[in-house]
Amino acid sequence: MKSDSAPIHLEARAVSRRFESPPGLSERVAGWFGTAPLPSVVRAVDLADLQVRRGEVLGLVGESGCGKSTLGRMMAGVLPPSAGEILLGGQPVMAPGPRGRKTTSRVQMIFQDPFASLDPRMRIGEALAEGPLAHGLVNAAGSAAYVAQWLQRVGLPAEAAQRYPHQFSGGQRQRIAIARALAMQPDTLICDEPVASLDVSIQAQVLNLFLQLKADLSLTMVFISHHLGVVRHLCDRVAVMYLGRIVEVAPADALYAHPRHPYTRALLDSVPRLDLHSESDVIALPVPIQGELPSPLAPPPGCHFHLRCPQAQAQCRQDAPAVELVSAQHRVSCHRWREI
Ligand code: SF4
Repeated sequence: MKSDSAPIHLEARAVSRRFESPPGLSERVAGWFGTAPLPSVVRAVDLADLQVRRGEVLGLVGESGCGKSTLGRMMAGVLPPSAGEILLGGQPVMAPGPRGRKTTSRVQMIFQDPFASLDPRMRIGEALAEGPLAHGLVNAAGSAAYVAQWLQRVGLPAEAAQRYPHQFSGGQRQRIAIARALAMQPDTLICDEPVASLDVSIQAQVLNLFLQLKADLSLTMVFISHHLGVVRHLCDRVAVMYLGRIVEVAPADALYAHPRHPYTRALLDSVPRLDLHSESDVIALPVPIQGELPSPLAPPPGCHFHLRCPQAQAQCRQDAPAVELVSAQHRVSCHRWREI
């Protein structure tokens, strides 16, 4: 586990990201009759503040559509924020402006679907060497040995460099995607659901690989998942997102033992778990979260979670809860966290 005294390495400051969706049929018809349609705006991320310490693994969890992947892409410098800034070592990861380019190769991203992120016509060796050659991390004469080194680091043979993506299994392709990211010699990885598409047995192997790489290479990592059970043994701290907002952040042990936000509790209850405190080991059955995630096109006023929250009161429907400190490392956004 990472010390709380390590310096802040990666930081999101009041970051928001909005997407304008094109007008639908009814809006276009209204436009023909002279009524200008209002643009539909998806608020994917809303004023997110998040800090990751050097060498720390931060889990970023929430249901599909909560904005965690969008926040991850902004932290990786592949998507510019609409407002706010992302800093790596105190420096912006993107140049300013909506078309700002990534300023550093120190942060790399690993995606859920490795097949989609690999060019099917490119041999693995070419795919791994492309970035390091462009950034001068290796020269053409040394690239084959360089690629072999990173393939072996993720548990693949050097000969894999001669093959194409379709010749590998899903787990092997994810290892290739990890090797390609590491070949850029980053100090930070943003991993977006990297095991979600793999069989359970392969998931464990890839999670163990991440743990090994973190220890060997002193990496800082953000690990994005919709599943609290997956991040439990990997992460030092966990941030929970709901409908574009971060609702709770805490050290992993505290979050799993004493969750303060009703949404975090609901997420934990939706995961089957072994109750070791009962007389005989009992598997607690998962309880699905009530209701559907509201549309980010029209998020509910006040606390975004109030339509699904069993503890909601009148204030929750009107006022967005502020961030409050449970302890120095534990913060939560809920009007009623002290009572529940
Ligand atoms: Fe539930 Fe209210 Fe807390 Fe939101 S602020 S999580 S609605 S109790």
